[in-house]
Amino acid sequence: MSARPFNFSAGPAALPEAVLQQAAAEMLDWHGSGMGVMEMSHRGKEFIQIYEQAEADFRELLAIPPEFKILFMQGGGLAENAIVPLNLSKGLAADFVVTGGWSQKSAKEAAKYCQARVIASNEATHFAELPAPTSWRLNPDAEYVHICSNETIHGIEFQQLPDLKALGCDAPLVIDFSSHVASRSVDWSRVGLAFGGAQKNLGPAGVTLVVVREDLLGHALSICPSAFDYQLVAKNDSMYNTPPTYGIYIAGLTFQWLKQQTEMTTVNGSPIELRGVAAMEVRNQAKAQLLYDYLDQSSVFESRVEPSARSRMNVPFFFNQALEAERGAALYEAFLKGAKTAGLLQLKGHKSLGGLRASLYNAMPLAGVQALIAYLQAFEKTGL
Ligand SMILES: *Cc1c(COP(=O)(O)O)cnc(C)c1O
Repeated sequence: MSARPFNFSAGPAALPEAVLQQAAAEMLDWHGSGMGVMEMSHRGKEFIQIYEQAEADFRELLAIPPEFKILFMQGGGLAENAIVPLNLSKGLAADFVVTGGWSQKSAKEAAKYCQARVIASNEATHFAELPAPTSWRLNPDAEYVHICSNETIHGIEFQQLPDLKALGCDAPLVIDFSSHVASRSVDWSRVGLAFGGAQKNLGPAGVTLVVVREDLLGHALSICPSAFDYQLVAKNDSMYNTPPTYGIYIAGLTFQWLKQQTEMTTVNGSPIELRGVAAMEVRNQAKAQLLYDYLDQSSVFESRVEPSARSRMNVPFFFNQALEAERGAALYEAFLKGAKTAGLLQLKGHKSLGGLRASLYNAMPLAGVQALIAYLQAFEKTGL
């Protein structure tokens, strides 16, 4: 296998090596067409084939029901913070559950276009736990309810999507799944719209995936830019304007890689082979468990997130409070320098939290987590 270092970046993040190799091999000539993918018309038969395959594979991987449209857009998660209210709010009101840096940004941006109400927040507990859905102050007149299903910075994740109907709320649920898309299955019966930038778990920055239930199309505000009107984008199969063609191609290669992934599990004592996202889910669970178990038994390193809210994808961690207070900055610097030498890249925490963060997206193999733990163990013995 590869001699490349393990890359723990939160995003843009590591891609499967097989994807990068295939892209490299096809760079000058895609499938005998005489063209690289970047050089193709988005309306030519070659690119249409790439696009249709990518869309079909994504639908299959995430078991997206037929009543949902899949849009390949541009602008990233941050643009969707505006595009969603421009399309769904009707200029009225929407409810936001604030659980970390990203949902906080979403609520703030939406307030430009509608009344954005924070109906629950974990800010008082430093974004370290999830407010129980039964405590949310859902409003009957909300056009939609927004959550960030995996908070990339604070490392907290909904292990289950809220069932708004069971809470007496008919509004569609909007999820920002940027940083855990395709890491686990999605219960589409609970979702109206999901969006995510590709650069965490699917491909390069520049593609944004939007999965939207058809009945939510066609309500854009008149000030909504045409290129961001979901109905127009859907009607034109994401080609109302030029889509991010190369990014779609790379995401498509990642989808094919995902479809080939397998893991064994046992059901009632019999071995079962899982494929695709189901396989990733088991693998991601095992990777995260290994790291959290290590952190929990360590007297030097710690996770500060309440166990039931911990993200499988993004693991912020710190030196214990005493060490941090005594010589935090120098210790983190030494840690990161040594990590780089050990072939463990981009472990620095987000600037708003400090400390360290290991992102364990789909492309991170179990061996990468094992190598990280070996380094943590060695640092405990000889780095302090
Ligand atoms: C990275 C990220 C975003 C922002 O993506 P951009 O492409 O930078 O706009 C939004 N939401 C979440 C959860 C993210 O992880």
